[in-house]
Amino acid sequence: MSDIHEKNSKAFLQAIEAIQRLRASVTNVFDQLKDGKKMPTDGNTKERAFLSELQAGLMLVTTEFEQFEKQALTLPKWTEVPPLGNTSLLSLDPITDRLSFYHEALEAYKWSDKMREHSNLSALLLSQSISKRSSSVGPHSNKRKRPPITSHAIAPDVVDAITLSIDQHFTDLTIQRIQVSPYVLQVTLSRTFQAIIVLRGLLIERVIVKATHENVTREDGSPDCWTPSKYLVFQKITDHVTATMLHYHYPNSPEIALKQFMNWLRSYNKLFSTPCKRCGKYLQDNLPPTHRDLRKHEPYHESCR
Ligand SMILES: [Zn+2]
Repeated sequence: MSDIHEKNSKAFLQAIEAIQRLRASVTNVFDQLKDGKKMPTDGNTKERAFLSELQAGLMLVTTEFEQFEKQALTLPKWTEVPPLGNTSLLSLDPITDRLSFYHEALEAYKWSDKMREHSNLSALLLSQSISKRSSSVGPHSNKRKRPPITSHAIAPDVVDAITLSIDQHFTDLTIQRIQVSPYVLQVTLSRTFQAIIVLRGLLIERVIVKATHENVTREDGSPDCWTPSKYLVFQKITDHVTATMLHYHYPNSPEIALKQFMNWLRSYNKLFSTPCKRCGKYLQDNLPPTHRDLRKHEPYHESCR
């Protein structure tokens, strides 16, 4: 074993010497170049001498580099091997046919590490999955197994058909599709207001309520799903509608949820001519009743609910 160590350290020493010679030759070339700039340009012979000197310097760099490369190939490869506790002693075994054993062990460790990493990740993903969370927990999980939720991945033409049926069913609502991806609807409620509804499949993702004369698209024609209405009354209604949107969230029957939400939205139809159910007034703080109750769809002022 000591023989091998001696051989190795000798090889390293020689490699270090080779790299030192290489560095010295490169420094020499740069020095030559630096001094060459100071030379007067009129001396033709001086210029030629400089060029041949530079050439010789570059040749030396090439030779030194080749020598270093050769030296590097003779270096033992055990420096690449990461230490692995006592097992790493195997790599120092001088008997050559046992040397591969350590490398194989390393490969096996790497493989098992990767597998553990992948299985941890898969377990995490599976535990986060909604369908698993809601259906396979508890002793009777098999009996109550629900179908996987696909309501976020419904083709646009199916959504078109459903929104058309809602549009025909509720005469006071006009539904228009203004963008397919993401699916954006412009819903106009008589002459009261209009709402921009962003859908993912059939799930409502965002609703903004604006006055009928306010812009719902940008200059380039794309829907403006972020700019709020400039009127306080529609800002209040947007807040309230957003809260209700979460109430009508049935991922397993999204079509019914969408219909019920649209039906609830219709309760705003006579927004400015319906008194509050509690105080009986039309206006409070200069606002009409902007709240609608979820069961009977009755109007309330924000502070009267
Ligand atoms: Zn009131």
